[in-house]
Amino acid sequence: MTLRLVVLGSGAAVPSPERSLTSVAMRYEGDVYLFDCGEGAQRQMMKCGISYAKVKAIFLSHLHGDHIFGIPGLVYTLRISERVDPLLIFGPPGTKKRVAELVGADVDFLKVEDISAGWAHDIGGAEIGAFETSHKPGSLGYVFEEEKGLRFDKEKCESLGMKGRVFKTIQEKGEVTIKGRTVKIADVTYMKEGKKIVFSGDTEYSKSLVKAAAGADVLFHEATFMEDMRAKAGEDKHSTVKDAAKAAKEAKVKKLILYHIGNRYKDMAAFEAEGKGIFRDLEAARDRMEILV
Ligand SMILES: [Zn+2]
Ligand SMILES: [Zn+2]
Repeated sequence: MTLRLVVLGSGAAVPSPERSLTSVAMRYEGDVYLFDCGEGAQRQMMKCGISYAKVKAIFLSHLHGDHIFGIPGLVYTLRISERVDPLLIFGPPGTKKRVAELVGADVDFLKVEDISAGWAHDIGGAEIGAFETSHKPGSLGYVFEEEKGLRFDKEKCESLGMKGRVFKTIQEKGEVTIKGRTVKIADVTYMKEGKKIVFSGDTEYSKSLVKAAAGADVLFHEATFMEDMRAKAGEDKHSTVKDAAKAAKEAKVKKLILYHIGNRYKDMAAFEAEGKGIFRDLEAARDRMEILV
């Protein structure tokens, strides 16, 4: 099944006419998961045809305003629309308290949990886990990883007339006899590699991110600055384009999307060029950009 990723906000710190604040929506098996929820996230979802009612969980990288101020608006809308299903919010220590300050402590459908690196959440057929980043104490990045395993080849199974109990038998015994013919499990299955998507949140270059992102299909890595602001990036614990490219190269990811882009940068060709010498397959995020995996 295709995984749909939509950049709701690609900017850093304060919004601009071109960029909303950090948030990426992932649509998986009919549900929507948000990675950070910057101001304006719900309107961006409406514009992109992502149902805000289908948001099942929000994963926060840290509690800076540019990553969380979309929560009160979204929760207010969900209250008006009489949401019943739980909306889960996960984030570093302090998240529970901060969300209560933003929306009140009396929202029945909200389930907020403080988590730390190493935590993982099963979403059925896939897992979303948290890893340590280097921005603020407790700041987190997230990895979405699908289970890999044997899958039945639908067409082959149909052409052989496989139905019902036959699937159970072939899984248990490794083969089955259909109309006098022996069918081995390897004839009708294939190994499906799970998809892997990684979100850095805010961070300077981080070894633990490189480890967590190994072999990912897509790495969303912040790039708040270019090399002209190297000293400032160090002070605020943010990455430059080159830092992000270096992490992507070391993690051997397939694609790098640069997000959390500072407002001062308007020429995206020059912005991307700074990293392309290190890692070729990179792209600067734009608001409402879609990536299908
Ligand atoms: Zn930020
Ligand atoms: Zn931050």
